[in-house]
Amino acid sequence: MSEAKKYPTPATNPETLPFWDAAKQGKLMIKRCTTCGEAHYFPRSICPFCFSDKTVWEQSSGEGTIYTFSVMRKSPTGPYVLAYVTLKEGPSLQTNIVNCDLETLKIGQKVTVVFKPTEGASLPFFTPV
Ligand SMILES: [Zn+2]
Repeated sequence: MSEAKKYPTPATNPETLPFWDAAKQGKLMIKRCTTCGEAHYFPRSICPFCFSDKTVWEQSSGEGTIYTFSVMRKSPTGPYVLAYVTLKEGPSLQTNIVNCDLETLKIGQKVTVVFKPTEGASLPFFTPV
């Protein structure tokens, strides 16, 4: 049973290469805009808040809270949890909650990043702390 199978292999390009390199080492990278100070994810070269091109890489703590989630029970590979996690640094991302008890998962629960290898790259998932 592999969560990785549900994801297409991410396309890497020069803009996101530092993200994937860090992911291989288990580090979650986000970007912060030095013009407006907002952090964003997925990393882009143009700030999605103020459209400045002054964005810099920053390592996320990997800590976050579950903003919302659904348990997907009708999957051929078994039930899994689709969720939005809000990182401590501010940005939210769509991800899967892994290594968790489906019955006790709660909105607002604290989670931490865990990387799982897929065919092409390591993808960030989250697990309860
Ligand atoms: Zn900005």
